[in-house]
Amino acid sequence: MPIKHVAIVGAGIGGLAAALAIRQAGLSVSVYDQASRLEPLGASLTLWPNAMRCLRALGVAEPLLRAGARILSTEARSLRGEMLACVPMQRFYDEAGEPGICVTRADVQRVLLDALGAEHVTLSRRLESLSQDAGGVALRFRDGAEARADLLIGADGLRSTVRRLLFDDGPPRYAGYGAWLGLSAIDHPRLARESAVEVYGAGERLGVIDSGGGLYYWYFIENRAQPVDGVVHCTSGSLLPRLVDWPDYARQLAMSTRARSLQYLSFFHRSARRGPWGQDRALLLGDAIHPYLPNLGQGACQAIEDAHVLGIMLAQGLEDQSLLTRYQSARARRTAMLGRDSVRLGRFAQVGGPTSSRLRDLALRSVPDWVHARRTRQQFGIGETR
Ligand SMILES: Cc1cc2nc3c(=O)[nH]c(=O)nc-3n(C[C@H](O)[C@H](O)[C@H](O)COP(=O)(O)OP(=O)(O)OC[C@H]3O[C@@H](n4cnc5c(N)ncnc54)[C@H](O)[C@@H]3O)c2cc1C
Repeated sequence: MPIKHVAIVGAGIGGLAAALAIRQAGLSVSVYDQASRLEPLGASLTLWPNAMRCLRALGVAEPLLRAGARILSTEARSLRGEMLACVPMQRFYDEAGEPGICVTRADVQRVLLDALGAEHVTLSRRLESLSQDAGGVALRFRDGAEARADLLIGADGLRSTVRRLLFDDGPPRYAGYGAWLGLSAIDHPRLARESAVEVYGAGERLGVIDSGGGLYYWYFIENRAQPVDGVVHCTSGSLLPRLVDWPDYARQLAMSTRARSLQYLSFFHRSARRGPWGQDRALLLGDAIHPYLPNLGQGACQAIEDAHVLGIMLAQGLEDQSLLTRYQSARARRTAMLGRDSVRLGRFAQVGGPTSSRLRDLALRSVPDWVHARRTRQQFGIGETR
């Protein structure tokens, strides 16, 4: 039976991008989300050239470029202020044909939703169960509502219900660290526009990225034995005592962030799934299938790549087993490689203790430029055929 109507569970970045790609493929789509309002969790996102290429194909690159800021260099510094690594980005953008940007999550959501049309999204629909038969997929929601589709895409994030219903393969793992994050409009002589900087401490890391519109996106990552549940809205009071040894702009960033937008969350991930990425007419996408630690800034980028690839395959009329097999084989290797790199980078960056962190700084300073260049090209998918 040909696929004409697709249901997507989850209206996050992956779900909305998939919905756009499916509409572009000429199919109809309904997106369901448990939230009563689509509120962006977290502050901003880096969208690297690999994601921008897909977003351009989906027709939304220009408004995102207008809303965000280009990232022309990425830097790592020690807490003592030494430069540990500096990667100018323009040559990679030239090779990729797209820039990398940082943009608020609220803007990404707005741009995707405007392009899709809000009428395709139904809120307050929490998926509770699903079943499959010869006619397609039947969905049942907590409020008693039901829906049918020829194909279901589970884009329901880190703790995906669709994944649990299909595979029940356990919860994601806590990484041992988490972050405060926020958006701030300060001006400071040591903060540059169009750049991303990470300052490495011992078991702690501060990141500051120009997010466009006069805003800096910042995060302070800290090792912590036990995870905190969900996203906690907090005030700078809980963070400031931890920032006494950090550059003064760290405290200014924290203090100038509005209380409601200052959040703390713990980081979780999963190893790459060895088994299938779906079953019959139900597939997984984005964090539901490959949740990353946010060390490379590639989680949403990979969800967008998934969406783009699926859209192309649906436009080609693929269905059932051939769709699942082709989708998974197009995506599994790359997403697994980036997932592993992100875990390794986190382990390296979050090293605790004065001696280990000094050794880490020395090691990072001695990484040759060609290694940074090779990793950057891999992440951006430069030189890969799709
Ligand atoms: C601190 C931090 C910083 C990050 N920075 C970056 C970055 O700079 N660049 C980048 O590319 N990535 C980044 N990421 C990763 C990125 O946020 C995720 O990879 C991305 O948001 C995943 O999108 P998604 O659509 O798969 O899932 P989500 O965005 O989690 O969306 C899932 C949606 O499903 C809904 N849902 C869940 N369960 C149900 C249900 N049962 N029924 C109905 N709806 C349901 C939820 O309400 C939600 O709206 C970062 C992540 C974190 C935590």
